[in-house]
Amino acid sequence: LFLTCSIAAAGAEYFKYKDPKQPLNVRIEDLLSRMTLVEKIGQMAQIERKNVSFEVIKNYFIGGVVSEGGSSPAPNASARVWVDMVNEIQKAALSTRLGIPVIYGIDAVHGHGTVYKATIFPHNIGLGATRDPALVKKIGAATALEVRATGITYAFSPSIAVCRDPRWGRCYESFSEDPKLVQEMTEIIPGLQGDIPKNSLKGVPFVAGKTKIAACAKHYVGDGGTYMGINENNTIANFHELLSIHMPPYYNAIIKGVSTVMVSYSSWNGVKMHANHFLLTDFLKNKLRFRGFIISDYEGVDRITTPSGINYTFSLQTGILAGIDMLMIPYDYPRYFESFLELVHKNVIPMSRINDAVRRILRVKFIMGLFENPFGDYSLANEIGKQEHRDLAREAVRKSLVLLKNGKSYSEPILPLPKKAKKILVAGSNADNLGYQCGGWTIKWQGLSGNNLTIGTTLLDAIKATVDPSTEVVFSENPDTYFIQGNDFSYAIVAIGEHSYAETFGDNLNLTIAEPGPNTIKNVCEHIKCVVVVISGRPVVIKPYVNMIDAVVAAWLPGTEGRGITDVLFGDYGFTGKLPKTWFKSVDQLPMNFGDAYYDPLYPFGFGLTTEPVKTSH
Ligand code: BGC
Repeated sequence: LFLTCSIAAAGAEYFKYKDPKQPLNVRIEDLLSRMTLVEKIGQMAQIERKNVSFEVIKNYFIGGVVSEGGSSPAPNASARVWVDMVNEIQKAALSTRLGIPVIYGIDAVHGHGTVYKATIFPHNIGLGATRDPALVKKIGAATALEVRATGITYAFSPSIAVCRDPRWGRCYESFSEDPKLVQEMTEIIPGLQGDIPKNSLKGVPFVAGKTKIAACAKHYVGDGGTYMGINENNTIANFHELLSIHMPPYYNAIIKGVSTVMVSYSSWNGVKMHANHFLLTDFLKNKLRFRGFIISDYEGVDRITTPSGINYTFSLQTGILAGIDMLMIPYDYPRYFESFLELVHKNVIPMSRINDAVRRILRVKFIMGLFENPFGDYSLANEIGKQEHRDLAREAVRKSLVLLKNGKSYSEPILPLPKKAKKILVAGSNADNLGYQCGGWTIKWQGLSGNNLTIGTTLLDAIKATVDPSTEVVFSENPDTYFIQGNDFSYAIVAIGEHSYAETFGDNLNLTIAEPGPNTIKNVCEHIKCVVVVISGRPVVIKPYVNMIDAVVAAWLPGTEGRGITDVLFGDYGFTGKLPKTWFKSVDQLPMNFGDAYYDPLYPFGFGLTTEPVKTSH
């Protein structure tokens, strides 16, 4: 009898927050009312996956996990390995007293870049060149599926930075220098999360369920406007400029139900964004009515250093009181707990602030269905790098190409190229390098060089697959003039540009073509008819060479589908892309943006020649 009763009692125990039929707010308030202070503080913490163990989750009630750039269980881990890893973490979270699932985030910024075999789409600057928000939405949906296939539910994407200076190492993560174009490209958000239901309240986050993920608009705000493009530096702008240049994409992101907003490392007029109560709380939360959660950047709160000499406890106090809800810690969580508890006991951080943060985090977790579907499974494994996604990426590459020059004179265009030729030369450090083609945030944080890092097609592979079988393709990375003169080439394709980088490592005051690129251009283009394909995350210095080149194509960082480039070079499709960023003549002109009073670019914002597709095969 005793046994039966206790089973019945356990079965009858009813938690409102666990009942999906209860209204959202009832669930949130019920769960919040059951949480201890330590559980709340844990809920606000996001720690690096390498640091997570069963004990850590059990003892600290961690609410979020991050795979920081390139942090993967193994460089070529399969979807199953990822799912198992994420599920182990989730099991630990569900075994805690209240069983609140963790939200697991990763930098899927151009597809699921960290994951082997995933489809790597063009970086955002290339997507900006497509001027095609519907396509970008589809890319969001494909990315969501590939992320979900690894059991992960959250991407630190999209960057909606408005890059005003290409010297910035993160310019390629920005769709454009033009706030309007970035606004249009926020269509990637409903792609990632799903379309918000009609009549939803402004600012309420939305994630449609098991094939979608929570998105993150970043980095709030002004990250693309720092002095000389120095990463994480100071954006000097009056409030009107901030509102008209850097803020507009956030209006669209919020209307589209973005779940989270990441704070920028940068400062606005000398005040760290992580410490800015006015912009985080008064403006984003109160004025724009954003109801999702604000996440710090990686150790972003630790970097609050003004006034100088302050300690971690003061940084933490400043960041939380400014309005940050979840903190990327990612390693020193014991220090975070200790300092946080001290601040609460001294009445520096009020419970109302903590409750606001936890409510927001729980709201996102409930809305995205994490309580009902906390685990990943293997059923989506075939989504990773599937043909349909690769075809979509290839379409995006085609549409992202900007034709800057076609022929030494307009009456003698050289593109599209003939597929049938006796012998053609392919040259340049970027012609056969999948790593350079994908750029940063691919497998590793800084990206990689070389061809075996993941599955894809380099430009050289694509050329070989596209030309007529009778055409001889000769590849020489950096040919000398003797080699060129000793051969009878019909024409040459030279791919040069930048080599992979991410964040501050990409800050560059010279923006010169990576060595030996300039030399390769001279050796080849002074002797043979040549097309130069620039593979770079931003405009680079090309003016000194333009006159010796017959045709110039900006291909940005196209990703794994090199066939998209040859589709257009050889005329199966026409060139349609338009510059998302002003192409400067010399770096002395920077920053230079469309709309500036003095504007003297090499190619203006919006420029892009077109070609007609070739009707019959040639
Ligand atoms: C970057 C963020 C990124 C985070 C997590 C930071 O260094 O600024 O954009 O989401 O790392 O990897």
